[in-house]
Amino acid sequence: MRRIPLAITLALAACGGIEEPGPPNIILLLADDQGWGDVGVYGAEGYATPHLDRLAAEGVRFTSFYAPEAACSPTRAAIMTGSYPVRVGIPHVLSPRSQRGLNPEEVTVAEVLRARGYATAAIGKWHLGDHPAFLPTSQGFDSYFGIPYSNDMSPAPANNPRAGANQWYPALPLLRDTTVVEREPDQTTLTRRYTEDAVAFMTGHADQPFFLYVAYSFPHVPLWASERFAGSSAQGLYGDVIQEIDWSVGEIVATLERLGLTERTLVAFTSDNGPWLVFGNHAGSAGPFREGKATTFEGGHRVPAIFRWPGRIPADRVTDILATGMDFLPTFARLAEAPVPTDRVIDGHDLWPVLSGERDSTAYDHFLFYRGGQLQAVRRGRWKLHVPHTYPSMAGGEPGRDGQLGRETRGNIALALFDLEADPGETMDLAADHPEIVAALLRHIEAGRADIGDQLTETVGARARPPGMVTESWTAQTER
Ligand code: MG
Repeated sequence: MRRIPLAITLALAACGGIEEPGPPNIILLLADDQGWGDVGVYGAEGYATPHLDRLAAEGVRFTSFYAPEAACSPTRAAIMTGSYPVRVGIPHVLSPRSQRGLNPEEVTVAEVLRARGYATAAIGKWHLGDHPAFLPTSQGFDSYFGIPYSNDMSPAPANNPRAGANQWYPALPLLRDTTVVEREPDQTTLTRRYTEDAVAFMTGHADQPFFLYVAYSFPHVPLWASERFAGSSAQGLYGDVIQEIDWSVGEIVATLERLGLTERTLVAFTSDNGPWLVFGNHAGSAGPFREGKATTFEGGHRVPAIFRWPGRIPADRVTDILATGMDFLPTFARLAEAPVPTDRVIDGHDLWPVLSGERDSTAYDHFLFYRGGQLQAVRRGRWKLHVPHTYPSMAGGEPGRDGQLGRETRGNIALALFDLEADPGETMDLAADHPEIVAALLRHIEAGRADIGDQLTETVGARARPPGMVTESWTAQTER
């Protein structure tokens, strides 16, 4: 039944018998720490993701999509601004009560769309500053509901395997706009409540273009699934949590259908970084890639990415084109016919020519891999060069179990060149065989250092922008 209206729409569109509707609704779904291999169509085993798989079947799925960084706050800064995290002054994960946050002077994707008449909502994890000056309602979103940072930033031992070290954290807040409505909310309810909020927002704004950003708190540890999903997968709690996220995606897609908005809405799904491997069976899978979260290996950066817009994005496509989380802003701006800021550098690219099938090559000359402000690697085409750096490694480490932190080792990589087409797992260093490629990639590293900055060489970028700073901490203003 579902396919009939789509077929009619396409037929009418083909005859020119349909009026071009206004700008599309845009829904961006962001999982937290969900690895490249943690969706059915990307090879997940032990649990099922029928709703994400359906989005992929009805749209396009990327196999070389990069999180801008392999950590929460930096990637989110890049998604919001279309720029490298270091460019916008967010190289590190932000702690509760941080006096630093996403600079309100930055132009966010929500501000770009709101200026074109979009209703905008942020739901879930924010992690770009918990002071009211940095919260979503100060950054282009009409409303916000969620936990403003990671779900383990809690003093409660059940929610934080490292709680002993972080006793100063305030009780985990759940916010409605800028007001704390609950402390230490029951985390088994979060995915369901985020979903209900998303459905209510869509239903309330069915007659105007909307931008809905749902940033799930999971599968970041601590893992919690509702009663309905706990025990639902063969893989254990990690699989249960992913199945609940998948259910949520299904509810959102079903709401579009109920509202008759399916053909007027682009839905995108991705993750903020690779799996947090030190949590063992409470971490996901990076698929065939090396290491995971907090590293500049492919396992840290490569994430699932699916885009669906029936009638506009050709269905059932898989592409290996390099794209990144910095591309959402330019792409969504184009679809809304909104201007992209021209008074600053935007590092991302308009992905629409790739999504629509017009173009089958990346717009990136090269991509820079940063970790904590350090420029550690660069990719151009099939080649990826690491400059010497250290990293948290599972080689020789011990994965944790059932939510307990395991043990990682300190890896140390020298200058190394990998051919990602032949060796996506980054196992064979070819630097000695290709000195000219090494030299060319080093020039991109040097240019990136000079332009954006690099803490490995203590270089301040000429075109880096400052983060937002406040003098008072969060508690003074929003704790009730
Ligand atoms: Mg994350």
